[in-house]
Amino acid sequence: MTGPLIPTESLTYGTELNAVYAIARIVAETFDTDAGLDAIFRLARTIFIFDTVALYLENEESHEIEPSYARALGRGRSREAELAWGEPAAEEAFRSGQTVLRQEDAGPVVKGRERRRDFLGLPLLVSGRCVGSLAFGRFGGPSFPSEHIQLAEFVAWHVGQLLENRRLSRRIASLEAQRELIRMQDDFISTVSHELRTPLGFIKGYVTTLLREDTEWDETSREDFLNIIDDEADRLSELIDNLLDSSRLESGTLSMTFEPARLGPVVRAMVQRIEGATPEIEVITEMPDDLPILEIDSTRIAQVLDNFLTNASKYAPGAKIYINVDADDERIRVEVRDEGPGIPQEHLSLLFERFYRIPENAATRGTGLGLYIARKIIDAHGGEIGVESIVGEGTSFFFTLPVKNINIEEQEGEYV
Ligand code: ATP
Ligand code: MG
Repeated sequence: MTGPLIPTESLTYGTELNAVYAIARIVAETFDTDAGLDAIFRLARTIFIFDTVALYLENEESHEIEPSYARALGRGRSREAELAWGEPAAEEAFRSGQTVLRQEDAGPVVKGRERRRDFLGLPLLVSGRCVGSLAFGRFGGPSFPSEHIQLAEFVAWHVGQLLENRRLSRRIASLEAQRELIRMQDDFISTVSHELRTPLGFIKGYVTTLLREDTEWDETSREDFLNIIDDEADRLSELIDNLLDSSRLESGTLSMTFEPARLGPVVRAMVQRIEGATPEIEVITEMPDDLPILEIDSTRIAQVLDNFLTNASKYAPGAKIYINVDADDERIRVEVRDEGPGIPQEHLSLLFERFYRIPENAATRGTGLGLYIARKIIDAHGGEIGVESIVGEGTSFFFTLPVKNINIEEQEGEYV
């Protein structure tokens, strides 16, 4: 890859040469395109005079150029919004692939230097293709001399390289994302098959046992077997619901119904549910009576709480569970804390990712979808979700929900 020749005869050793090298270095080292452009144009201004610069890029659908970056660096810097940015020169350079010089007269209404405007349009070539153009503007003359035009061409070539870097890094990022997606899909299929097979295996096994003609089962055994089948069938349908929710969340088609509701009954119902399912569990709830009305999807919020509580009972078995609800004018915060084994620090930021499970917990049943779904639900409510944990002391999951101003009549009406 070779650039245009640096017009060395126009450079005096010192500032100019340093600027030229600095521009080349920015292109080699900068990944942030806007910051790179800012730096290049600031340096360019130390080697030739211009007042404005604008970058136009081709819209790939309409094939027209559109402004994508503009700065005033010289005169008129404080009035950026009113300036002309040389679009005709940029347009011509883009169409012809050639450097274009245009002089415009803004007319007698414009007083002073800005009446006369010189624009230098330069095509931007990336991998041999013209992807847009640059327009340098200079107000009040004199016109751009040829050595400045050469320097501007040098700058344009480097801006083209910077854009090429951006194109390549986006392409790499999208290839990496695709690879990650394929890996996740593979993981997904193996996790799902495994998770579906376990309850199915139990159901099949116990049904086959019950159907055996060579053995008589007493009433208690029969009932035990049927209870297992019943539980496993519930587990299977819960699993399928979670899988469906998760794929709807991914595709953005999970609908939520926000309605005015209070959190108190939702919390109490979920506590009752977990106590019913796991009688040995002890849940201690601290919750003010006068919680404000929220705009929420109660079923979905119940699902979040249910997962927090089920997790505490699964991963901190035998430990007490504390629920703490508090509210101020802006938000309600709900915390579910257990005094279980805790979670090592390195896992904390990953717990809310799809399918993430702590490897040490592999023996406990789960798909790693619960917290992912919870995060998406809380995001959709404009709240925050998080976890704090100390190994050996316990874990605390929390979420917040914003308190919005709901009509006072509603506050006093049927939702109380
Ligand atoms: P699912 O909820 O989909 O049935 P799951 O419980 O494995 O499966 P999540 O609820 O997303 O999935 O939890 C992810 C992981 O976080 C769990 O596998 C477990 O390793 C860890 N975890 C969650 N809650 C706790 C807790 N209270 N204490 C210790 N580890 C926990
Ligand atoms: Mg869970």
